[in-house]
Amino acid sequence: MASKKVLVLGGGTGGYVASTYLKDAAREYGVDLDVTLVTNSEWFYMPPLWLDVAVEGLALDETRAPIRNLSKYGVDVVVDPVASIDPANRLVTTEGGRAFDYDYLVIAMGVTNAWSRYEGLSEAGLHNYDPESALRLHEALASFRGGRVVILAPEMPYRCGIYPLEMSTVLAAKFSKRGVRADITVVAPRMPNGATIAEALGPSISRLWRKYLDKYGVKLVAHDGLERVDPERRVVVTRNSEHEYDLLIKVPPPGLPGPLDTPEFRFEQDPRFAKARAPDFRHPTYDDVYLVGDHSMPPTGLTLAGVFIHTAAIVAAKSILGDIDGLAEPAYAAPVTCAAYVADSGWLGTCEVAYDTSTGMYTWNDKCYVTMESPLIRLVKKGFYAGWLSRLRFDGVA
Ligand SMILES: Cc1cc2nc3c(=O)[nH]c(=O)nc-3n(C[C@H](O)[C@H](O)[C@H](O)COP(=O)(O)OP(=O)(O)OC[C@H]3O[C@@H](n4cnc5c(N)ncnc54)[C@H](O)[C@@H]3O)c2cc1C
Repeated sequence: MASKKVLVLGGGTGGYVASTYLKDAAREYGVDLDVTLVTNSEWFYMPPLWLDVAVEGLALDETRAPIRNLSKYGVDVVVDPVASIDPANRLVTTEGGRAFDYDYLVIAMGVTNAWSRYEGLSEAGLHNYDPESALRLHEALASFRGGRVVILAPEMPYRCGIYPLEMSTVLAAKFSKRGVRADITVVAPRMPNGATIAEALGPSISRLWRKYLDKYGVKLVAHDGLERVDPERRVVVTRNSEHEYDLLIKVPPPGLPGPLDTPEFRFEQDPRFAKARAPDFRHPTYDDVYLVGDHSMPPTGLTLAGVFIHTAAIVAAKSILGDIDGLAEPAYAAPVTCAAYVADSGWLGTCEVAYDTSTGMYTWNDKCYVTMESPLIRLVKKGFYAGWLSRLRFDGVA
């Protein structure tokens, strides 16, 4: 069989999983598969660890590893931002002026932080949705001597739906240990069925959040739309509430990466995202293009979280292998388990992801439950991310 070329765009969770899975499988089956990954950063990051940077002062080097080390798995890595994607001509160009053709294209370029979607949101507050901002938030938290803390999620969906609850309870426990008096309020969108974000994943996970929110007196307000943030008056204004703050921690609204903000890729029903179809994450028109990044989860019924990106990247890789030479059976996104913090403890949660043939979409959010709650899960979470990073660390290894 002639060699096939797979081009992977983005060196984050989706790009890492898809490229290494394809190379591992090619080795196993003895097939010739060129895999090239084009990304705009020298680093592979584990973004969930930016919470540890902000709260615990974890060093940035503990959250990242050199993306070029994917070459140890046979992946060719090019660090040069993608400028344009022409799926009709199977051509990708970079800002550095390079051009790449492909037999299969896998896109996982994450989402951008679209602060400008709301008045005042760019100027106000701090966050940990990129590494440098996580360091700034750490400084602010270390010098925080008490007052009103608002954790604001402007709209659904956002990266990691449980994040505001995780952050609020972790901070509450930390402040309580430090003897800092803080009045913490999570201001997050009301779900379409009227539920709060704490209730969104079903009764088992809801009970866990409620126990810790009550224990630490963290308030949770469901808003019906963010109107603006006023950085001068330090107030968050939503359609149904107003919240004064001394410290604002904000969650970014998701935006489409530039190369996907084109008619070929923009999802008409919700232009914040790029189109993809369930169950295999292919582009609806271009069968050789797979979209497995945060930018394309909502059109398939999934949402913006690394656990979904992980399973989506494997489904896409298997679909490519099946397409090439029947090397893999068609696959579906699998149930996901995630490890999370809550206050000074931790928990494991599982969501039973299923593909609904009647709607052609994945379903999952009413099928989630807690599988374990223990302070040990804090170590499991750290160990889980350390494992991903260690695969890309070869210090002193030839
Ligand atoms: C603070 C925080 C906490 C989180 N917590 C959790 C959690 O507990 N559990 C969970 O499951 N998920 C969590 N997530 C979400 C998870 O990190 C993302 O869902 C996942 O990383 C998305 O994978 P991706 O491949 O789409 O994008 P990313 O991992 O964001 O990677 C995108 C890649 O594309 C590259 N790129 C972007 N633009 C270009 C361009 N023009 N050209 C070339 N390359 C480009 C970037 O450099 C990057 O390498 C969290 C995220 C954050 C920020």
